[in-house]
Amino acid sequence: MLRLTVRAVDGPPVVPSQKPPLTYDPTNVFARILRKEIPAKVLHEDEHCMAFHDVVPQAPTHFLVIPKRDIATLSDATPADASLLGHLLVTAANVAKQLGVDEGSRIVINNGAGAGQTVFHLHVHVLAGRNLAWPPG
Ligand code: AMP
Repeated sequence: MLRLTVRAVDGPPVVPSQKPPLTYDPTNVFARILRKEIPAKVLHEDEHCMAFHDVVPQAPTHFLVIPKRDIATLSDATPADASLLGHLLVTAANVAKQLGVDEGSRIVINNGAGAGQTVFHLHVHVLAGRNLAWPPG
């Protein structure tokens, strides 16, 4: 079995979260988009993920990349999801390039309700086309 030990630099071992994974709700809006039960403006689809425009864009370009695996939040991902997570980021970059917005784009994952996550199917936001302030609100 693969064991992941995380250590803070010059610090004690980081104790992994003991919280159980969030139960995945298959009726969430992104699961329904994946099943084509509701429409989306799809930019990319392959066997592992789908990218589509956000319905309430927060920037001139705002799209989402979602896995085709039932993962509610980033915290629910496991080492077995590592290559899938990489694929989501590479896809985000490729779609941004196709849209001509790769320079000056922001890639965001809201991880949990406290960070503003409202749809509990893991998703990567890509925002571009305006000046993006730092730190984000
Ligand atoms: P988050 O707050 O990180 O969970 O982001 C959820 C995002 O999903 C928001 O930016 C919403 O505007 C977007 N969203 C919700 N419903 C849809 C939909 N049917 N199609 C596209 N984007 C959606």
